[in-house]
Amino acid sequence: MATCPRCKKEVKYDGEKLPRCFPFCSTQCQNGDLYHWLEESYSVPVETNRVVQEALEDPMAKGVKPFGDEPESLN
Ligand SMILES: [Zn+2]
Repeated sequence: MATCPRCKKEVKYDGEKLPRCFPFCSTQCQNGDLYHWLEESYSVPVETNRVVQEALEDPMAKGVKPFGDEPESLN
């Protein structure tokens, strides 16, 4: 007997035909898991984008200095 990966309930089937939503107990669990999976997979590129964005912005903020910020008095 399999258990639903989402709600951990027993997945009941007649022994001959697996339910269409197998290994989930219901289409609700199947769709819910898919939604959760999509959410997680979307959050990864968003997080990566943010990190990349910060990495790109940081050297720019350091490289593009306003006039007067350079220690020219040391020359
Ligand atoms: Zn379930």
